[in-house]
Amino acid sequence: MATFYDTHAHLDYPDFAPELPQVVARAEAAGIAKIICIGTDLESSRRAIKLAEQFPNVFAVVGWHPSHVEEAPEDLRPSLRELAGHPRVVALGETGLDYHRLPSQKPGAEPAEDERYKAKQAALFRQHLEVAAETGLNCVIHQRDSLEDTLAALQPFADRVRGVFHCFANDAATMRRILDLGSLVSFTGILTFKNGQNIRETLAATPIDRFMLETDCPYLAPVPYRGKRCEPAYVKEISETAGQVKGCSLEELSEATCETARGFFRNLD
Ligand SMILES: [Zn+2]
Ligand SMILES: [Zn+2]
Repeated sequence: MATFYDTHAHLDYPDFAPELPQVVARAEAAGIAKIICIGTDLESSRRAIKLAEQFPNVFAVVGWHPSHVEEAPEDLRPSLRELAGHPRVVALGETGLDYHRLPSQKPGAEPAEDERYKAKQAALFRQHLEVAAETGLNCVIHQRDSLEDTLAALQPFADRVRGVFHCFANDAATMRRILDLGSLVSFTGILTFKNGQNIRETLAATPIDRFMLETDCPYLAPVPYRGKRCEPAYVKEISETAGQVKGCSLEELSEATCETARGFFRNLD
């Protein structure tokens, strides 16, 4: 059986708490050999580390999600440095910029609020990039409706830090700009959706050694589980669609995507 990794899972979310050992066992049975658990704030990052200590095939990424920026400390760097020293931490994130929901969308809010909010996200993203550059770790990047600003923020660090633009849903031209910075993209279950044709076209154009696979569970369950809670085992369904799109065997896809992941995340072996 061809094995794959789930390079982006929110295993620490309460959705999984009642049956974590079973979720991890089902992934293993489906050939998903490693699961990377992604932190979204300090508490979540600490939970990710705990899971990585508990399960030998789980690894942790530590960081603060841009959508939770209002609760973030002024300077996250001391905490990031401390957590980054843990041997089961394989990257920083998820970090980045998310302009999907801006303060001005709330009734009575001033448009100037948006600028303050974006500046706060930019500062938090930059702190991750700085600590990544210091520690030699790469960054898991979340980008939504903020492409130009995200690329501009990453650009000055691109000689020292690589990013993976996770849950990639942009076109092939954007993918090439990301690859030109030395960064990667990764694809979720959206690949299997009926309306995912544009993303399948992007994957078709992406070189076999420049992308990874992920669930982003509990979200984005692939067909035939669409709409249900997603879990790491479903990388199997994602990989089958990805193999068809790339016109390669599952063994080739396994070898390429797992090697890319081992090259991107620290100490994944
Ligand atoms: Zn994300
Ligand atoms: Zn995520």
